[in-house]
Amino acid sequence: MLDVLRRIVQEVNTARDFNQVLTIVVDKIKKSLPVDAASFYLTDRENNQLVLRKTDGLNDDAAENIRFPIDEGLVGYVVSTAETLNIPSAKLDSRYKYLPNIGEDKYNAFLGVPVIYQRKVLGVLVVQRTEETRFREESVAFLITLSSQLAGAIAHWRLYNDTNAGPDQEHHSEKYFSCIAGAPGVAIGTAYVVYSSSDFDAVPDRKITDIDFEINVFKEAVEKVCEELKQMRERLADILLSEDHALFDAYVLLARSETLVNGTIERIRKGNWAQAALRDTIREHTIKFDKIQDEYMRERADDIREIGLRIFRKLHSEKSPAIKYPKRTILVGEEIGATQLAEVPSKRIAGIISARGSNSSHVAILARAMGIPAVMGASNVSLGWMDQCEVIADGYQGRIYVQPPAIVKTEYSRLIKEESLLKKELRGLRNLPAETSDGFKVALMVNSGLLADEAISHSETEDGVGLYRTEFLFMVRESFPSESEQQEMYHKILKAYAPMSVNIRTIDVGGDKPLPYLPVAEDNPSLGWRGIRVALDHPDILVTQIKALLKASLGLNNMNIMFPMLSNLDELDEAQALYENALYEVKLKHPDIATPKVGVMIEVPSAMLLAESFAKRVDFLSIGSNDLTQYLLAVDRNNPRVAKLYDTLNPAVLRGIKLVVDAGVKQAKPVCVCGEMAGDPIAALLLVAMGVGSLSMANSNIARVKWVIRSFSYKKARYLLEQVLVQEHCHQVRSIMYHAFEEAGLASLLHSGK
Ligand code: PEP
Ligand code: MG
Repeated sequence: MLDVLRRIVQEVNTARDFNQVLTIVVDKIKKSLPVDAASFYLTDRENNQLVLRKTDGLNDDAAENIRFPIDEGLVGYVVSTAETLNIPSAKLDSRYKYLPNIGEDKYNAFLGVPVIYQRKVLGVLVVQRTEETRFREESVAFLITLSSQLAGAIAHWRLYNDTNAGPDQEHHSEKYFSCIAGAPGVAIGTAYVVYSSSDFDAVPDRKITDIDFEINVFKEAVEKVCEELKQMRERLADILLSEDHALFDAYVLLARSETLVNGTIERIRKGNWAQAALRDTIREHTIKFDKIQDEYMRERADDIREIGLRIFRKLHSEKSPAIKYPKRTILVGEEIGATQLAEVPSKRIAGIISARGSNSSHVAILARAMGIPAVMGASNVSLGWMDQCEVIADGYQGRIYVQPPAIVKTEYSRLIKEESLLKKELRGLRNLPAETSDGFKVALMVNSGLLADEAISHSETEDGVGLYRTEFLFMVRESFPSESEQQEMYHKILKAYAPMSVNIRTIDVGGDKPLPYLPVAEDNPSLGWRGIRVALDHPDILVTQIKALLKASLGLNNMNIMFPMLSNLDELDEAQALYENALYEVKLKHPDIATPKVGVMIEVPSAMLLAESFAKRVDFLSIGSNDLTQYLLAVDRNNPRVAKLYDTLNPAVLRGIKLVVDAGVKQAKPVCVCGEMAGDPIAALLLVAMGVGSLSMANSNIARVKWVIRSFSYKKARYLLEQVLVQEHCHQVRSIMYHAFEEAGLASLLHSGK
C-alpha cells in the first residue's frame, strides 16, 4: 500500500492543473481499493456549499453541477465534524440526503475522509460500495494517509486553478498563498525558480525561442554523459566482470535511446527548454514502468531515472546562456541559500520566496539585513509552476500573489509608495538619539554578516555593530579560509565601521547553518553539534579565528568578541582559556593590540538560568532571542508548520529575558539583545523597559524602532512592561501593546501578521 501511495503522490506532483490532480486521485483510489465509486467533494466556503468535483462511479455528467449546502448529508457531516465516517448502509442513516441525478441509489457502504489543510477542511474523499458492509481498517487507513499527503497539493491547485469552486472565486484578489512573513516589505517582480541539481522534480517549464540551439545543448549533454560512462567502464576494467562491463554499455545505449532522446527532442520542439523536456520524458517512462508489477522491469525504470538524472545534472551544471535574471527578480526555491542569493546581481534582486524556513531562519535574517522582502514557508505552493510569472511577495503578511490582477497590483503599489514616504519621514530621525521622551537613552546597533563596504554605506546608526555573524563568510566558501584570509576580511569590516565598535561573534555553524565543507548528518541538528560545541571540538578553527580577529583589530581597537550557544560554564571556561592563549601569543608579536571585551550570547535556557554566573565571568551579555525563543518554546525556528507557535511575545519568553537582564544589572554588566525581536517595534519597547542597554537589529528596522522609543516615556514603557509581564497569553500581550501603539499614533507600525 505504501508503494501505491508513493506512486499516487508522485503522479499528482506531475499534474499541471487541478482537474488533472483530481482525475489522478479518483482514478487511483478506484483502482487501488475494493470500491465501486470514488469521488471528491470540494468545499466552497464563499457560498457555504459542497461541490461534487470529480467522480468515478457516480454520474459523471452531473458532477460539477451538483452543489448542496455545506452541512448537508453524509459528506456535510464529514465536513462539519472533520472526522472520518464509515457506515455500512448510507441510505439507512438519518444524516443521508438523497440527491437526484447523482446516481448513488445503487450504493450502500460509504466511507468519507476529510481533506484537511492548516486546520481547514478543503474537501472530502468518498468511496462507496454496492454491498452493505463497513470498509476494512486497511482501506480507511489508506484513505486517511492519502488525504493527509494530498492536502498540500489540493490546497495549492484549488486556489489557482479551480474554475468550479464557485462564482466568488472570480474575485481574484482573494487568491493568494498564505505563508510566513520572512522579511518586511513588498516586492512586485518576476519569479525565478532555483533548484538544486539533485531536485529533478523542481525544474520549472521555461519557454525557449532558439529550438535548434536547445536541441544541441541537450545532445551535447547526452554525449558527455556517454563519454563519462565509457570512462567509468575503463577505470573499472580490471575490477569488473565482463557482465558488469555490459551494464555500462547498456547505460550508454539507454542514454542514446529513442526513449530518452527522441521524446525529449520532441518536447523541446514544442518550445520547452531541455531540462524540463527531459524531466517530462523521464517522468512519463518512470510512471509507465512503475505500473508494471514485475520487479525486474521496475528496476529498468530506476535505470532510466538514473541516466536521466546524469544528463540533467550535466545540463544543470552548464548554465544555459539563456538564463538571465529578470529585472526585478523574485528568487523562488525550496530553500534559498546564501550562495543562491549571492548569484543574483544585487540590482536585480527584488524579493525572496522560500518553501522552507520561517521568520527566524538564516535566509530570512540575511534578507532583512539586505532589506529584501521575503516570504518563507511556502511549502503549500507548487513552486516550479510560478517560474517567470509576475508575482507579489508580501513580506509583511507572508502572502504570495501569482499573476495578480490589476486591482491587487494597484493596492500594493500604493503600499510601496507609502512605505517609501514613511522611510523618508523616518530619515528625519537619522541624526536624533534613540531616547525616550523623558530622556532614557538606548544604543541602537546593527546586525551584520555581509561584507563591510556594502553594509556600512547604508547604515542607519552610529552606535556600531551589535552582532557580526562571521559564519556567513565561511558559508559562501568552499573550504576554511586561512588565518591571513580571515584577518584581511575582519580588518575590512572593523575598518569600515571604526571608530564604532563591532561585536564579532565567533563562528556559529551547525543547526540550520551547515558548512558545505564540514558536512554533518544529524537527526536533530538544532540540538546537535552547533555553535560553540563545534568550535570547542575543533579548537584549531576557533584559535585561528581568534588570532585573525585580534590581528585584524590592530590599530583600530574597536572590536569585542562574543561566543555563541553556550549551555554551561565549562564551555565558557574552555573558550576563555583558548582565547587567553591566543591573545597571549598574538601579543608577544603585537603588544599594541588592545584587549577586546569578551561577552557571551545567552540563547539556551540553561544559560538563561545561569545568566548571573556567566555575567560574573564576562564583560557583557548578549541575548540571542532567536535561539532562546526556539529552545524555550520547543519550536523549531525553521519549521513553517509550527511557525505560529514561535512567538517572542509569549509571556514565557518575556519573563525569561527579564531574568537575564536582571542578572546583568545585578552584576553591573551591559546587556544587549541581538536576536530579531530587538528590531520588532513592540518587543523593542518592552526590552528597553526591562533595562536592556543596546538593541541590535537589521539595519532596515533601526528607524522604526527609534521612532517607537522616541514616542514613549520610559515611565510609560515600564508601566506597559509591568502589565504584560503578568499576562498569561500572547494575545493579551499583543492587545495591550497594540492599544498603546494606537494611542501613541504608531498604528502604521503594527504590520505583524500575528
Ligand atoms: C539568535 O539566536 O538570536 C542570534 C542572534 O543568533 P542566530 O540568529 O545567528 O542564531
Ligand atoms: Mg543563535
